[in-house]
Amino acid sequence: MKLKVKNKKVLVRVDFNVPLNSDFEVTDDTRITAALPTIKKLLEDGAAVVLCSHLGRPQKKLKEDGSINVERFTLKHIIPTLSKKLEREVQFAEDTIGPKSTAAIKALQPGEVLLLENTRFEKGESKGDDKMAHDLAQRVDLYVNDAFGTAHRAHASTAVVANFFLPKEKSFGFLIEKEIENANKVLNNPARPLTAIVGGAKVSDKILLLERLIDFANNIIIGGGMAYTFVKAQGGNVGNSLVENDRLELALKLLAKAKKKGVDIHLPTDSIIADQFSNEAKILTMESNNIPNDWMGLDIGPEAQAKFIDVIENSATILWNGPMGVFEMSNFSNGTKVIAQAVAKATAENGAFSLIGGGDSVAAINQLELANQVSFVSTGGGAMLEYLEGKALPGIKAITG
Ligand code: AMP
Repeated sequence: MKLKVKNKKVLVRVDFNVPLNSDFEVTDDTRITAALPTIKKLLEDGAAVVLCSHLGRPQKKLKEDGSINVERFTLKHIIPTLSKKLEREVQFAEDTIGPKSTAAIKALQPGEVLLLENTRFEKGESKGDDKMAHDLAQRVDLYVNDAFGTAHRAHASTAVVANFFLPKEKSFGFLIEKEIENANKVLNNPARPLTAIVGGAKVSDKILLLERLIDFANNIIIGGGMAYTFVKAQGGNVGNSLVENDRLELALKLLAKAKKKGVDIHLPTDSIIADQFSNEAKILTMESNNIPNDWMGLDIGPEAQAKFIDVIENSATILWNGPMGVFEMSNFSNGTKVIAQAVAKATAENGAFSLIGGGDSVAAINQLELANQVSFVSTGGGAMLEYLEGKALPGIKAITG
């Protein structure tokens, strides 16, 4: 952050979209913790800090009378956690661009923190409305974007607002800087061999990532539900496993492209199969291309685990996006667990660089308490995926021009 912030009012877009329990208490404060370095530095340097964020999807969950469910979606819920972590009082404005926030910003002094109400209470936020962006911008001197989790959205507070500031009046925060720096370690001149582990439900969500990976990875490990589309495309019987029949041809094309480029694609040769999609289902270990009708593959099998672990432990750069099985059910979580442990081991013992690229693999690595044993855990699922796919993220472009 190269801004001159002393005695300035700085609007900081953070990602405080955190999970809450039924008493509206924060149940996972990772995103709040991730935003602290930027906020603390601005305060230390003498800024008056105006924070804004979205929380949930209030426009999609309106009350019966069509009004916003303020009680459920107000950002006020996170004030106790935020003030505890910042070790200071955090003021709250009950609107985002209205008279209450305008008055509160006007009165805000250097060293003080004000949190605005949920940006998505305003219809203009998700539409990337110019007027809303202008209203947000005009009350402050500077803008800092530190919301990596929403950097792939061209919303009013994440991207459009930056248009109302000169280059010397806007910047990224430390979190976005760190996310980009770490993603670039995978994308630009990575230590080799580079192994990408891609899992999760659908091939269709990860096509662009797979296509791009074929251009620069040495190994691609494919696990999770998406593996069965590849197995079926090659003529295997996958029973009732998750398959995207409209992507079979694409799967073959990707395999052929990888072969041509000398990229090794590793599919699970065996699977843990189940007779229903349930943790109480009957379970067998079976070749992934020989799954009986009415059975489905819900995790990678022991042979696949051993192969994948071997590839991972011989890698110098590791990117992981998506679980190896239905890890939410304990009987199908083992594949994801051993892969997470292998990534941690490769990092700690061999000095590999490992990036956990968002979404469910982050949930898995946190659940296994291995987050501090890998090199970097991204806070932005969709944003990290799009960045790795090579797309320009609107929240980043708005700052860099
Ligand atoms: P994604 O959001 O694409 O990363 O997918 C994550 C989801 O994929 C998780 O909810 C997993 O339970 C699910 N998943 C992983 N493996 C399988 C599988 N073999 N069959 C069905 N769903 C799976």
